[in-house]
Amino acid sequence: MLPVTARPLFHDESAVEQFRKLHRIDPDRIRRTRYALYQMFDSFETAFVKLGEAEREAALKHFDRLTLAVVERHNSNLDGSTKLVLQTPDGYRIETVVIRAETSRTAVCVSTQVGCQAGCPFCATARMKLHRSLNAFEIAEQVLLAAWEARESGRRLRNVVFMGMGEPLHNEENVYPALDLLMSPNAFRIPPRRITVSTVGIPDAMIRLADRFPGIQIALSLHSAIPEKRQKLVPWTRQITWDGLHSALRDIANRPRLFREQGPVMIEHILIHELNDGVEDAEALIEYLQGIPCIVNLIPYNPIPTIGAWESTPRERREVFWRKLREAGIFTTFRYSMGSDVQAACGQLAQPVTQVGT
Ligand code: SF4
Repeated sequence: MLPVTARPLFHDESAVEQFRKLHRIDPDRIRRTRYALYQMFDSFETAFVKLGEAEREAALKHFDRLTLAVVERHNSNLDGSTKLVLQTPDGYRIETVVIRAETSRTAVCVSTQVGCQAGCPFCATARMKLHRSLNAFEIAEQVLLAAWEARESGRRLRNVVFMGMGEPLHNEENVYPALDLLMSPNAFRIPPRRITVSTVGIPDAMIRLADRFPGIQIALSLHSAIPEKRQKLVPWTRQITWDGLHSALRDIANRPRLFREQGPVMIEHILIHELNDGVEDAEALIEYLQGIPCIVNLIPYNPIPTIGAWESTPRERREVFWRKLREAGIFTTFRYSMGSDVQAACGQLAQPVTQVGT
């Protein structure tokens, strides 16, 4: 049973509509209030002014503002990122990262579950195991909290990446309504081209995601195109067939290129020294991606203090890997994760799983 807040949330359109009818509020006032909150990122107190004086007071009493509480804030000294530790109503802690790129683009990396069952051995979240999935409001609200955080530093939130704690496609029932809320013209109105959902690759769920949300980017965390290696790096994928994944990937990648030159698919490949970063690994990846238009994103492994076994691939070796892909005509970039000094980079997110405060 998912936790509920004591009062309805303003994120809930049906609760807002009931409130509107009860107080006979002009629908346009509701529309302007939601615009102020979700697109201008005003506070609830400021946005509710648009409802009218008496209605504002009623709304402040009637609605719970947020379901998540910010309990810790860690600013990176290396780059502009901030890790927010958020507490759910039932006392779990999750992490959300605000990424302030040098280009002035600002993104948020959201979590979709408390822990994860995919079991990737290079990832701190996997150590938590899975405790529960987040509900749609808990997922979407991370974007609002990140937007407020960005606004404090004079930035406007632009991109949303589902790459935090959890496997989004193990939580379709909540991730899809969260995506609806993020894209809704009545709420965040974030264009699909600015949203990326990362997955270990659940073939039928990937197809459902692409069908329901054309235009968003699907990032497949492949990490190795050699089946036995991939099963070690992403153990949950033993439950799917190699061919099934490849066929789903080919289907999605060859759909109309709505916004991106390289198509709707990104392949993520973490580079771990002498594990999956050799010439044979690059060649297997080139072979795997034949006929699949995509962009490949190489991610240097971020060491995790509690997992001391592996090292990041040295720069020269990374470049050899990158060059091989480029020479094969595959558009390839590096992702240098931000916030590694505050354990906010790719693979580093984790919180103790004791339910705090319950
Ligand atoms: S890398 Fe992603 S899918 Fe793998 S265990 Fe971590 S959170 Fe789960």
